[in-house]
Amino acid sequence: MKTIRLPDGREITYELTRKRVKNVNFRAKENGIVAVSANSRVSVRQIEDFLAERADFFFKAFEQMKKRASENNENSRLVRYLGRDFPVRVIENSREIGVLDENELRVFTKSTDENYIAELREKAILTRFAVLCRELDAEVRARLLEKGFTPPPTRISIKDMKSRWGSCSYTRGHISINSRLAAFPRETILSVFYHEYAHYRYHDHSQNFYKFLLELYPDYHKHNKILKQR
Ligand SMILES: [Zn+2]
Repeated sequence: MKTIRLPDGREITYELTRKRVKNVNFRAKENGIVAVSANSRVSVRQIEDFLAERADFFFKAFEQMKKRASENNENSRLVRYLGRDFPVRVIENSREIGVLDENELRVFTKSTDENYIAELREKAILTRFAVLCRELDAEVRARLLEKGFTPPPTRISIKDMKSRWGSCSYTRGHISINSRLAAFPRETILSVFYHEYAHYRYHDHSQNFYKFLLELYPDYHKHNKILKQR
C-alpha cells in the first residue's frame, strides 16, 4: 500500500498488484483505497501519474460509496411505534418530510445528514402520536362520563419528559403526556390517560384513587407494570 500526495494537498492511497492484465486497471474500493492491477511493463511512475490525473474521479467515487453505505445503514434501522417495529426507508426527494404508514416509515429528503434524518423520523412519529392521543383522550372522557364523572375541559400536551409518563395539573385543566409513550402499545398509553384523568377526582395516590382508576380501567396494573420495567 502506498500513499501519494497531490499538488493540492489531497492524498490517494493505492494498492498495487502485478498481474498479467492488459496494461493497467484501477478500481475505487469501499475503504477509500484504489486497487491497481498492472502488468510488469507499466512503471510505478506511470501508475501514479494516472492516479493524480484522475484524482477527482476517484474522490467522487469514494464520496458516492460513503453516501450509499450510510443510506443502507439508515434503511436497515427500525423505529418503534405502538409496540411494533417499523423499518425506515430514506427516499431521495425534496419533500423533506417523514411519513409513518401501516408498514414502514418513509423519509423523503435530499439530505444525507444523520441528525436531520433522525429529526424527520421523530416528527413523523409525533404527528401520528398526536392524532392517536386525541382519540384516546376522547375515549377516556367518554368512559368517565359513563361512570358518572364529568371531567373538566382539558388541554393535552405531548412532551418529552425525563422522569414521568404523564402529569395532571387539575387546577389548570392540563394533562401532559410523555412523547416516549409512542413506542408502547395502545392499551399501555391508555393506562396513562386513565391515571391522569383519575387525578381530577383524587389528587393523591390513595386507595380511593386506585379503586376509582381500576373501575375505569380494570387492566391498569397490567399495563402500568410494562411502563415500570423501563
Ligand atoms: Zn399520579
